[in-house]
Amino acid sequence: MPRILVVEDEEHLAEGLRFNLEADGHTVDIEGDGDRALERLLGSGAPYDAVILDVMLPGRDGFEVVHALREAGQYVPVLMLTARGRPEDVLNGFEAGADDYLPKPFELAILLARVRGLLRRRQWAREAASAAETPRTLAFHGRTLDLAALELHVGDKTYHLTQMECDLLAYLLRNAGKAVSRKAILEDVWALHEDTDTRAIDNFIVRLRRYLEDDPGRPALLLTVRGVGYKMAV
Ligand code: CA
Repeated sequence: MPRILVVEDEEHLAEGLRFNLEADGHTVDIEGDGDRALERLLGSGAPYDAVILDVMLPGRDGFEVVHALREAGQYVPVLMLTARGRPEDVLNGFEAGADDYLPKPFELAILLARVRGLLRRRQWAREAASAAETPRTLAFHGRTLDLAALELHVGDKTYHLTQMECDLLAYLLRNAGKAVSRKAILEDVWALHEDTDTRAIDNFIVRLRRYLEDDPGRPALLLTVRGVGYKMAV
């Protein structure tokens, strides 16, 4: 049974989530504090298959929790619950290393569908990684992106990417040679249609360049197209 940690300090909401997630076939733990959630997630005793993480928490906030998780090499899928009307929260969440987000208040059916989506993606990634056949990879400029393992191999270095970093890089590679706008990236990679601050995309690009480029300050692969967006060199 998939095991899910709900990190939410509003007790009635956390208990409502527990009830519905359990009815959907999951095992659920609740943590109401960011610091304790992080301890639990980094501890060895409780491996989770997914985390539902509120942004506003006592102790460390949701952004700090997911950032610390990723820094520690813990890549459990994270669905962030962001405040309504704060689209910048969404990209802050992705920048910190979240995999998906849902603005509050949300419809329960949508939350359950998102959680199933995260678990399914993780399952596919695991199956592909352990399958005997060649994993799905994209090779470019002597680098290899492993879509199943969420790994980028550059020379003898291996970088572990979040699902969203991997999806963004794959999108740029599939559109190599074409300039893609920030708006297209938001719509196609993140399925965000609201009026979001698209400059936040730039943070992701900076991170990808750190992995990809020989000299991240003078990119030769992931190029800026002035007034448009970005382009992966062919
Ligand atoms: Ca909260």
